[in-house]
Amino acid sequence: MLILDLDETLMHASMHGLPRAADFRIGPYGALKRPHVAEFIEYCLEHYTLAVWTSSSDTYAQCAVEALFPAAARLAFLWARDHCAMELRMDGLEVAWIKNLQQVEQLGYGLDRVIAVDDSPEKYCYQPENLLPCKAFYGDSQDRELLDLTHYLERVKSAGDLRRLELARWKEQLGRGAAIRPG
Ligand SMILES: [Mg+2]
Repeated sequence: MLILDLDETLMHASMHGLPRAADFRIGPYGALKRPHVAEFIEYCLEHYTLAVWTSSSDTYAQCAVEALFPAAARLAFLWARDHCAMELRMDGLEVAWIKNLQQVEQLGYGLDRVIAVDDSPEKYCYQPENLLPCKAFYGDSQDRELLDLTHYLERVKSAGDLRRLELARWKEQLGRGAAIRPG
């Protein structure tokens, strides 16, 4: 299973201006699609069981998925903030929304077969070995992160225990060009 984040992973939305004209709108937000997002999603739908998990609201998540995914796309789940655990940071003021993969395990998916692509590593602080971290997207029209991620996902799609791949080092592994196998 592959779990995708929305904001700064597949898109960037803002109420206060964007570097170029918005690709779509969600209420007061203008949103940009990350370059190559359509091909990336098409690849993921074909080769992985796909799900979306965002820490934004449920309505926002529904609108974003409608704009980004093909109408016929089947998602294993579309989870929003109500599936995240709120945790207070050290100073007691800042709030972090944690995505605890135990909930995914409870659906019957073994965590050895789960990859989560997210630009916020702290959201997967309980299961960092399942995180495939991506660079945050804020509107760079030359961004190639989703192409690189596609190449990496293609190389590991038949790997055994995905948690043993050291997903955090995926760019290094991709650069080496060697076969990627769980260590
Ligand atoms: Mg994000």
